[in-house]
Amino acid sequence: MFDFAKKLIFARELKMERGSMIILNQNVAVFPVSLFNYLIESDPKIIPLLYNGGKESAKLFAKELIKKYNFKATQIKDWLKNIIEFAGWGEAEFVKYDQSNHIAVLRVKNSSLAIQSKKKEAVDHLIRGFFAGGGTISMSTELDCIETRCIARKDNICEFVVASKAYLKIKYPDITKSQFQ
Ligand SMILES: [Zn+2]
Repeated sequence: MFDFAKKLIFARELKMERGSMIILNQNVAVFPVSLFNYLIESDPKIIPLLYNGGKESAKLFAKELIKKYNFKATQIKDWLKNIIEFAGWGEAEFVKYDQSNHIAVLRVKNSSLAIQSKKKEAVDHLIRGFFAGGGTISMSTELDCIETRCIARKDNICEFVVASKAYLKIKYPDITKSQFQ
C-alpha cells in the first residue's frame, strides 16, 4: 500500500499542507471510522445518504483521473480501489470486472468499519456507494452496488456486486430491497 502513497506523491496528487490534505484535487479529512458507525447506528435514515455521498465522491475522483490523465476504465478502477485501501477502509480486490456486461465483484478483507460495527448486518454503505460511483464512471453507465457478504454479520469477508439496479433487483431481490429501502 505504501507504493500507492509513493505513486500519489510522485504524481503530485497527494498534497499535505498545514490544515489541508488534498488527494486528486479533493480536500480530504481523516476521522476515526467510529464516526460512521455512530451515524449508521444512530439513525438508519443516514444509510441512503452515506451511499449516495460515497457514490458522488468516487465520481469526483474518477472524473479527475479522466480529466487529468485520460485514464481508461481499468486504470480508473485500479486507482479507486487503491484509494479505498490507502484511506484505510480495508484490503480490496476485484474478483470480476466485466465491462461488456457492466458487472463487477469486489471483495474487501478486514473492513475497518465492519470490524467495529455493533450491527449484525451489511454495514459498508459508504464504500458500497464509492464502488457504485466508480463503476458508473469507469463503465460509462449508471450502476449501483450491494454488499452481499459482510464481516459485521459474521461472513468471513465483505463482498460487493456492482451492476445496474435492474440487474441487482432480479439477481439479488432481498438484498437489493433491504439495502435500497
Ligand atoms: Zn462489510
